[in-house]
Amino acid sequence: MPAERSVPFFNYPDVFLDDRDAILDIVTDVGSRGAFILQRDTEEFEKQIAEYIGARHVIGVANATDALYMLCRGAGLGLGDEVIFCTHTMVATASGIHFSGATPVPIETSWDHEMDADSIETAITPRTKAIMPTQLNGRCSNMDAIHDVASRHGLMVLEDSAQALGAKFKGRCAGTFGRGGVISFYPAKTLGSLGDAGCVVTNDDEVAANCRLYRDHGRIDTLEVVCWCLNSRLDNLQAAILSHKFKKYDQAIARRRELARLYEDNLGGLEALVLPPAPEEDGDYFDIYQNYEIEAERRDQLKEHLANRGVGTIIQWGGKPVHMMRKLGFTQCLPFTEGLFDRMLLLPMSTSLSNDDVEYVCTVIKEFYL
Ligand SMILES: *Cc1c(COP(=O)(O)O)cnc(C)c1O
Repeated sequence: MPAERSVPFFNYPDVFLDDRDAILDIVTDVGSRGAFILQRDTEEFEKQIAEYIGARHVIGVANATDALYMLCRGAGLGLGDEVIFCTHTMVATASGIHFSGATPVPIETSWDHEMDADSIETAITPRTKAIMPTQLNGRCSNMDAIHDVASRHGLMVLEDSAQALGAKFKGRCAGTFGRGGVISFYPAKTLGSLGDAGCVVTNDDEVAANCRLYRDHGRIDTLEVVCWCLNSRLDNLQAAILSHKFKKYDQAIARRRELARLYEDNLGGLEALVLPPAPEEDGDYFDIYQNYEIEAERRDQLKEHLANRGVGTIIQWGGKPVHMMRKLGFTQCLPFTEGLFDRMLLLPMSTSLSNDDVEYVCTVIKEFYL
């Protein structure tokens, strides 16, 4: 039986086609100005993001993986230091820590798929310097609980807020809770560029100055080179496109929250599923739904059933938490997270979806369980 409808997990051409004419105009404008590297569009975009999330500094870089490395190094981490992170994250969290010279130490995930603050203390050693929660799926971790442990042990907080531009906990935006964070503008992220892009966000002048050096060969204004560094600049053309898309960002987030509500209304009654926390109006959490990650009984069969009916789904990180990437040298056993990885599934969640698309996805899921 052919599927009645095709709902791809993410519609990549829409990143361009949704706003084709405006984007082509931007290419013409930036190209005609020859404004390719570190021009005013990058600066303007950095200012917009800084203002939006309430951070003193935003440093546009080539991608959020580089941003994580530069943030760690810029915050003074290095050889012999340990950084605690939640294993339900992209490998980039750990590689950012690794390339700064420090050792990434994975811990458990909580019921809401964020860092389990109660597990932090079990991983603290005399070498521990920082805690790096991932603000996963566009939701903040319980930052009160994390700050509490951090301050008791004198640890720094850094955030992998790659998925959480505009996500809030108690009115504060992801990326501003500790010494710094990062945002990714990968095409499928909530603010997606036409390629790779990212930034470091920080309220710390020293971290900001360091990251500005690191992204541009360690050169100061006179072009004197003052340290070993990378080339990891944000493309000015991408910055100009991102600035344009950013004008509609609040609408995009409102729409994602509406879609999350629609999933909740349609699937809330199914005992075979655990849904992510629903959007709150006046609560502690303001979630932006980068992803809609459910837990499902008979997950693999459900995934196949959805695929047969034209619905794309994804299991994050290729189905493995970071500590199970054994070739990277991890040996930990984290049973709660490992169990979660047998049940988790990402349903389609993007501004390309119509209400009918979501209702179709829900109908197909109900058909599987009922
Ligand atoms: C996307 C992502 C990154 C990496 O971002 P890139 O810009 O693709 O390098 C890091 N951490 C998390 C949690 C992500 O989702």
